[in-house]
Amino acid sequence: MQWSSVLEREFGAVFHRNEELGAYTTWKVGGAAEFFCCPKEEKLLASILKVRSKQEFPLWIFGGGSNVLIPDEGLEGLVLCTRGLDSVLFEEKGNGYVECVLGAGVSLSHWLGESCRKELSGSEFLTGIPGTIGGALMGNAGSRERYIGELVQWVETVEPDGERVRHEGKEIVWAYRFCGLSDSLRVISRCGMLLRKSDRETIRRNFLHYANLRRGQPHNVRTAGCVFKNPPGEFAGKLLDRAGCKGMRCGDAVVSVRHANFIENRGNARAADIVTLVEECRRRVYRACGILLEPEVRFLGDEWGFLEKD
Ligand SMILES: Cc1cc2nc3c(=O)[nH]c(=O)nc-3n(C[C@H](O)[C@H](O)[C@H](O)COP(=O)(O)OP(=O)(O)OC[C@H]3O[C@@H](n4cnc5c(N)ncnc54)[C@H](O)[C@@H]3O)c2cc1C
Repeated sequence: MQWSSVLEREFGAVFHRNEELGAYTTWKVGGAAEFFCCPKEEKLLASILKVRSKQEFPLWIFGGGSNVLIPDEGLEGLVLCTRGLDSVLFEEKGNGYVECVLGAGVSLSHWLGESCRKELSGSEFLTGIPGTIGGALMGNAGSRERYIGELVQWVETVEPDGERVRHEGKEIVWAYRFCGLSDSLRVISRCGMLLRKSDRETIRRNFLHYANLRRGQPHNVRTAGCVFKNPPGEFAGKLLDRAGCKGMRCGDAVVSVRHANFIENRGNARAADIVTLVEECRRRVYRACGILLEPEVRFLGDEWGFLEKD
């Protein structure tokens, strides 16, 4: 039996057909998902992956959609959105420490708000970063000085074979915008993060410090954050600026004049416009200084094909 018929038979009631994905992303770009599901329980997630281990249909995962580009023609197969996994629990650990047990779909801003209300400190460096816990973990999100991986006690995943596994934070490889769990198509379902008790004033000062670091970034515009990773010892934004990329335009996609590592959707940009700009930016920086920039934004599809051509 064809995989699409199997999906209809097994999960027809919980899957949507032809769900438009652009609306789920901060870029507001991209086509529809053939099948779409937003599971509220890990159990459903595990059954889906179990079926997939026998049927091998294409699978795509996203959370907040703030670091992904969806192709204009949409995605064949199943797209899983993790926003339904939204539980938040706080457990006292003694000695002033509290463990936050967070579903992968909890938004960073919600977690930060709740932690602040409980006078818990340690996560303020994530202020201003959109998206969910799952996406932040997969990209080891953070600011210049600190990364989310530092707070992680454990991460629970649903593995490609549908098994649920707990990974200890210390055993996961964390690096700049890298998490060792990204080596296979597993889904992060929950995690435990350690924060410590503090006071409102200290937390407020920390928030201000990290909000200040973001002053040079565009705001209230449709972007997906930094398009490229910083190469070792360099800032991608500066290299792009020096290579004359600011203000470059393709359709409604424009390289921000405020910060060259951001591409803005100024209206009805298509994914193809953004890809054209990404390729041109990369070409210009390579010509100017011999550095090949690596995208930070994930393309759900295979359009970052130029990476294989290098
Ligand atoms: C204005 C703006 C500013 C930003 N500033 C920063 C910044 O300062 N620092 C920074 O690090 N990032 C920044 N970002 C990028 C982005 O917000 C973060 O990387 C964010 O943590 C991504 O989370 P998400 O849920 O939106 O991930 P998505 O975009 O939904 O997904 C990103 C990747 O993670 C995978 N993924 C998501 N959830 C799961 C899951 N549960 N299990 C398995 N895989 C999953 C997806 O498949 C995809 O490959 C910024 C973005 C914007 C728009």
